Amino acid sequence: MEQSLLIRSLGEDNSVRDESLFTGHAFSASSPQTTEEVCEIVRHCLANGVAITPHGGLTGINGAGTAAGNHSMSLQHLNGLTYRKEDDTLWAQAGATFSEIENIVRKESNMTREFPASPTEKSATVGGAISFHASGLRSYKYGSVSDFVMEIEYCDCHGHLHFCNISDDDLHDLFGSEGMFAIITGVRLRTVATPKALWGLMFFFPDNLYAAEFADAIMDQEHISVFEFCDSKSFEFVHEFRSQISSISRIPDIPSSDQSAIYLELEGEDEEILEAAAENLLDLTATYHGDPDNVWTVTGNEVESFRLLRHAISECINLKAAQFHARDVRIKKISCSCSFPDKNSLEIIKYYQDSLTKNKLTGIIFGHIGSGRPYVNILSHSSEEYDKAMELIEEWCSKAYKSRGCAFFECGVGKLYRDTFYKSAPIDLLNKRIKSKQKWDPDGLFNPENMLLQI
Ligand SMILES: Cc1cc2nc3c(=O)[nH]c(=O)nc-3n(C[C@H](O)[C@H](O)[C@H](O)COP(=O)(O)OP(=O)(O)OC[C@H]3O[C@@H](n4cnc5c(N)ncnc54)[C@H](O)[C@@H]3O)c2cc1C
Repeated sequence: MEQSLLIRSLGEDNSVRDESLFTGHAFSASSPQTTEEVCEIVRHCLANGVAITPHGGLTGINGAGTAAGNHSMSLQHLNGLTYRKEDDTLWAQAGATFSEIENIVRKESNMTREFPASPTEKSATVGGAISFHASGLRSYKYGSVSDFVMEIEYCDCHGHLHFCNISDDDLHDLFGSEGMFAIITGVRLRTVATPKALWGLMFFFPDNLYAAEFADAIMDQEHISVFEFCDSKSFEFVHEFRSQISSISRIPDIPSSDQSAIYLELEGEDEEILEAAAENLLDLTATYHGDPDNVWTVTGNEVESFRLLRHAISECINLKAAQFHARDVRIKKISCSCSFPDKNSLEIIKYYQDSLTKNKLTGIIFGHIGSGRPYVNILSHSSEEYDKAMELIEEWCSKAYKSRGCAFFECGVGKLYRDTFYKSAPIDLLNKRIKSKQKWDPDGLFNPENMLLQI
């Protein structure tokens, strides 16, 4: 490739890996610091026939941000933030992380406003989150990161900069585009008023199915902003890796590893109303074999410790998967998140549990039960188990699509699940994705080998 000061050629040390442990290789790399530099690099790569894979924090869990023998563009240094007090919105450049976004919103609004849609992994960037349609712990009430986007700026496959707002179809096309359509350079985000009252409640049950039944029973309760399920394996690895994760070493207590939990947050403007709602929920636990005297309750900023605990479950599963990967590099962290509109929480948990047992696989089920789409992570002890687990994920995704639900929620398809996507997705969905790719990037400049077979 012709020389450009913004592009570094890479030698032997050219691997790019995300949190799935999927490893790709880059021929060259760049870290633009301005939108002009992004456009210049795109034009340079275009002129030299070199494809580009953009990435943010590389916290994705499907290999989508890893290059496939092409140019790797990190957006992490394009990370400016400007808060606009007139309408309490934030202009965030694509590489800004959620920890930076949350901090600036709180600081600039004198702690009166917040950004509530962050994924639990706060080192993820806003560009990466929009590209995956990511959503966080509070998505039950607030939806996904994309739901907070009002304007977007991007560089197209010709190296030209564009700007569009919420009424423009192009903005919506970029949600979930996995770096295959354009390079997102900046977004304007809405913020919300910080709720006056906030409660965190962790309910424990002796069995996953009782916890799921409890979830079904409280679906109509008001004031819930976080509605999460943790199966009885979820806390096992948190105990195992506790000393290795600084954020959880601060948590005074970790639930014992043989119980399932439902984690709720209640939000509102009136403390007394929330207290009454919490009491109502406490009364209900005994009906589902929970112990009303063993419900962990915190209020206000103390919910942070429960949020850290919930996040630690994902982190510890990743650490466990890394141990298996160290023994056999074919094994990666694999997970899925599907929705089944014809199943309630109990049926979803039972379905996943039964198919894991039937296939003699170890899975951890946790996450957004309130929205009907918990994650299932499968731990593979050998490459044979890994192949079996991939087949099972394909079966779950096919079943989800057949019941008019969705698959690959939040975390996308990437490179790891490309074949699974092709085998399970309905033809009209595949055609839609291919047509969008042809519209945005007909010559395949962005993120080759991701999601779609070569077009
Ligand atoms: C411990 C842990 C917890 C997690 N928790 C959550 C969670 O609560 N909710 C959730 O949804 N996900 C979660 N994730 C997954 C991941 O953090 C999110 O999907 C996150 O949004 C990815 O952001 P990133 O900056 O790391 O993106 P990357 O992994 O770097 O990239 C992701 C995709 O975006 C594309 N991309 C990145 N930047 C741009 C850009 N500027 N323009 C165009 N394309 C771009 C890449 O090409 C790739 O396709 C978690 C992951 C981990 C490891």
